[in-house]
Amino acid sequence: MSERDDVVADLRERARYYATLSDVGLPRSPAAGVSAPVGEAAVSAGSSDPGRAEAATELKALREHIGDCQRCKLAPSRKNIVFGQGSASARLMFVGEAPGADEDEQGLAFVGKAGQLLTRIIESIGLKRDEVFIANVLKCRPPQNRNPEPDEIASCQPFLERQIAAIRPKVIVGLGKFGGQWLLKTAEPISRIRGRVGDYDGIKVIPTYHPAYLLRNPGAKKDVWEDMKTVRELLKG
Ligand code: URA
Repeated sequence: MSERDDVVADLRERARYYATLSDVGLPRSPAAGVSAPVGEAAVSAGSSDPGRAEAATELKALREHIGDCQRCKLAPSRKNIVFGQGSASARLMFVGEAPGADEDEQGLAFVGKAGQLLTRIIESIGLKRDEVFIANVLKCRPPQNRNPEPDEIASCQPFLERQIAAIRPKVIVGLGKFGGQWLLKTAEPISRIRGRVGDYDGIKVIPTYHPAYLLRNPGAKKDVWEDMKTVRELLKG
């Protein structure tokens, strides 16, 4: 391919990415993987591989262990525990911050406006939403969507650790400050950690901007596109 062909291919790909992301907010059929019953873990084994079936069993056991969790001060105000959902054999996992109002209502992660945008971001690299696993640092909604507090993060920490240990994805994308900082065990701002490949227990970590931030700052979509291209390359390797 000539240099000109490369540039043309890159521009086409970029145009496709922006087209994919631009219609968020318009009515559309529900995203794959978001139609499970309220409060269900919505985990699919995603493969006939026995190791992966084990991952699905471990996730089910973890959900049972969490039960009607009363371990932190978020319990009284939340409606549903949002365990996370997707494929137990996912090669790609996303870690967000905490459920919002829509997620609390439905018991599923990333089903509101930011979730619709996340679906498009996933699709921009040729994956379907139900092929990945989506979870959050916190499993319960903080009142008025305030930031997660350190004691809440500490209470929930073993759950996310066990989810990652069960799935063992190849790549994890940390969404926003809380997802990125949790995975990299750092207090550095997201603007500094994004764009770099980090490590969580031998798994590649890509911190990027949270889709809710992108809804307010569409100019940052180009940075997320760069990060998603890195994700795509890492998944190929
Ligand atoms: N924002 C998050 O961080 N997680 C969700 O599940 C929804 C919105």
